[in-house]
Order: sequence, then structure tokens, then C-alpha cells
Amino acid sequence: RTVYVNGEYLPEDQAKVSVFDRGFLFADAVYEVTSVLDGKLISFPGHAARLQRSLTELEMASPVSDAELLEIHRELITRNDLTEGLIYLQVTRGAADRDFLYPAPETVPTLVLFTQAKPALEHSPMVQTGMKIVTIPDRRWGRRDIKTTQLLYPSMGKMEARARGADDAWMVEDGAVTEGTSNNAYIIKDGVIVTRHLGEEILHGITRKAVLAFAREAQMKVEERPFTVEEALSADEAFITSASSFVTPVVSIDGADIGTGRPGKVVARLREIYLDEMRKAGI
Ligand code: PMP
Repeated sequence: RTVYVNGEYLPEDQAKVSVFDRGFLFADAVYEVTSVLDGKLISFPGHAARLQRSLTELEMASPVSDAELLEIHRELITRNDLTEGLIYLQVTRGAADRDFLYPAPETVPTLVLFTQAKPALEHSPMVQTGMKIVTIPDRRWGRRDIKTTQLLYPSMGKMEARARGADDAWMVEDGAVTEGTSNNAYIIKDGVIVTRHLGEEILHGITRKAVLAFAREAQMKVEERPFTVEEALSADEAFITSASSFVTPVVSIDGADIGTGRPGKVVARLREIYLDEMRKAGI
């Protein structure tokens, strides 16, 4: 695999960053994950815009322009013969002697990108079976709208889900679902799609934005508001969205079936519209 590190394309065993990198020492870093279908980037402008927003919120310098970023993504697709999979990107505040205070502004940020080939990205078995979800308290920090690499709690959540015989976890705060460990969460009741409103409590999913727009274009009703676990349990269908899972059905929560306990029609239709439109718009 060829990996990008600070201006260089290197074999993965030669791609290195400093032990003093603030991404390593403080999780002082932001990231993006963009999917690739048919060798094309899905929603690249959205991911580039969110990256710039995360950097701005953390007063971090942007190491490259959007045009350069696109160029690097394309180069990695070519060099790695990537037709289906993901491109991971991370920017850190760079390497400096360990200190809680940010280093001097001239400190060079670290930029790393690598590919992950996922031949079954589009044809995940979860689409047929649906996902089993467990709920856990949301114990993350309060600025979840910034896409930082502080992923220990979501990682613990996925381990707990697996230990409880499930596929993933939804996080709950003040009685309402915030989002999944690495995805946005939705329920559908009487044809109305409900998902938490945007704010500092959740990541502003790029997939979420596209799916809600397509749903509205298809005359489906959308409510952006908090929903409780009880409400989810009485829903007809449920699903998650993310760049790597697109639109994937959820069939149970904490061991109780949602609706029929099988993937539903509305979610299947949303997934189809999303994938069709995204393939057309891929760059
Ligand atoms: N919420 C969280 C916490 C996530 O980690 C992700 C995936 N990065 C999402 C939502 C979905 O965002 P996107 O659709 O941009 O992948």
C-alpha cells in the first residue's frame, strides 16, 4: 500500500510520524473518511468542507487547499488501484515538545492519508440482515461536531456492543439518542423520518445531509429532533448513515425487534436512491 505523509508518497512500512506528534500525545487531530465506489470519490466537497470547519474550530492551520487535497485523494486511488473502499485522512497540529499549550503557530501540521480496500463496501451482509444495536450512555466530550480523533469511547462502545451480541451501539444523553458510535441514527414512524437535529451534540454527517435532501425530494417527511429509546422501540423501521455504511437498516435495539424485526422498505428505498445519486455525482 502507498501512503501519503507530509508531501510524500511512501510504501506503508516507511510512512512514519514523530513520537512527539500532538495527534499521538493529545489526540490533537481531526480526520475524515471518504468512500470510493467505481474508483470515484463520494461526496468529496462535503468532506473537504467539514475538514476545514473542524480545523477552524480548533484554530489549526490547514496544511493544503481543497484542490491539493483532491489531487492527493486521486493520486492514492491511482497508486493503490482502489476501486471500492475508503480513504482515511488525518491532520494533526504537528510535532512539538510535550506541552498542553499549543505550539508556536509556525509548527508544521502533520497530514497523513491512506487507503483501505473494501471490496464488499456496497454489498455488506448487514444490508440483508439488518444491524442489532445496543444503547449506552453518551460519555463523549461536548464538541462532537468537531471530527477529532478522540475515538476511545466509541471504540469501547463497539466492544461493548459485540460483547452483548450486537453489531453497534447508539449513545443516549438526557433520555434521547444522540448518534451511533460512528454513524448518525434514524427512526421511521408512519412514514416520517426522525433524526436528531444538528448541534454540538452530534457529528454533522455528510451522508446525513445527502440522505435527508433525497428524502425530502422524494416527498418523504423529515423531522430533525431528539428521539428517545422508547420511541425508537415503537418505530416501524430504523437505520444508520455514514460514509462507510451508506444507509444501513437497524432491526433491533437492546434485544427488542424494531417493526417486523427485518429490514424495511423505506430504508431499502433510501439506500437505493442514495447510492444511485452518489455514483452519478462521484468525482
Ligand atoms: N457520527 C459519528 C460519531 C461518526 O463518527 C460518523 C462517521 N465519521 C458519522 C456520524 C457519519 O458521518 P459521515 O456521514 O460524514 O460519515
